[in-house]
Amino acid sequence: MIFLKTEDEIELLRQSNLLVGRTLAEVAKIIKPGVTTAQLDRVAEEFIRDNGAVPTFKGFPNPNGAPFPSSLCTSVNDQVVHGIPNETPLEEGDIVSIDCGVLLNGFCGDSAYTFCVGEVSPEVRKLLTVTKDSLYEGIRQAVHGKRVGDIGYAVQQCTEPAGYGVVREFVGHGIGREMHEEPQVPNYGRRGTGSLLKRGMCIAIEPMITMGNRQIYLENDGWTVRTRDGKWAAHYEHTVAVAAGKAEILSSFQFIEEILGDKAI
Ligand code: MG
Ligand code: MG
Repeated sequence: MIFLKTEDEIELLRQSNLLVGRTLAEVAKIIKPGVTTAQLDRVAEEFIRDNGAVPTFKGFPNPNGAPFPSSLCTSVNDQVVHGIPNETPLEEGDIVSIDCGVLLNGFCGDSAYTFCVGEVSPEVRKLLTVTKDSLYEGIRQAVHGKRVGDIGYAVQQCTEPAGYGVVREFVGHGIGREMHEEPQVPNYGRRGTGSLLKRGMCIAIEPMITMGNRQIYLENDGWTVRTRDGKWAAHYEHTVAVAAGKAEILSSFQFIEEILGDKAI
């Protein structure tokens, strides 16, 4: 069942997603070599709760029913998604993908951004640039009358020619009162296939792109997803509302990029 949202519901989703953007900006302020992902998680959780919202990831069950222990997913270097914040300090040249979800006024926000820790290599910087570009290429397809496959096709066309891998086991999703609603929104696909996109559909588009091949594995912690070849991965995510002509982006990287300044990707 795909829920179409009213204007009022879309506005509530925007408020939730703006809070996610502001939370990620709080995290951006303190990312540097030596900081731990557990510190980032504490800052994020406090900010979310201070703003009257609840972190949706905390307690979210994996397929075995084990609850996610933290408010952020923090995935470093060859970790793709769902990394658990820990006490290991970030190092100069690392990248960390930070995914954040909140529930505010009954609606969910979900957005992710990959950050550089200090200076990263040009090759890694290119991975981040191309992954972020692919997100916006996907969003360009999220218009009334197109299909879900158009989004995945656009992401693939943007990333695979650069020699990158598109992770298939994890996908974007509908979003609303629940963090994960129908339809699934893969980052691969064929043009003109899949669910029809309609005005009022709200979806999270989230390319997970690897520098090597697309093979991944699940760590023993039951959550952390890593590349098999050890090459690094990036992840950017926006929540958008499908509309006629052009999708409306409900989340925002603006707050983050004001903090990053000329270091923004
Ligand atoms: Mg997310
Ligand atoms: Mg998501």
